[in-house]
Amino acid sequence: MSLPSARPEPVPGCRDRLGLAVQRVNAGSVGDYSKVSDMNVTLPAHLRDAHGDEQ
Ligand SMILES: [Zn+2]
Repeated sequence: MSLPSARPEPVPGCRDRLGLAVQRVNAGSVGDYSKVSDMNVTLPAHLRDAHGDEQ
């Protein structure tokens, strides 16, 4: 079983981003894959909305 890129990539100065990444890793570690996929949506949405990152 493998996680879809469950790797925290903190943005310096952004605690929200780090918190979301940690939540995603924690969810993966307990097998909560609906939460993982939720975070996979929330993380890029945060980057777009808060940082203007198009990735
Ligand atoms: Zn942020």
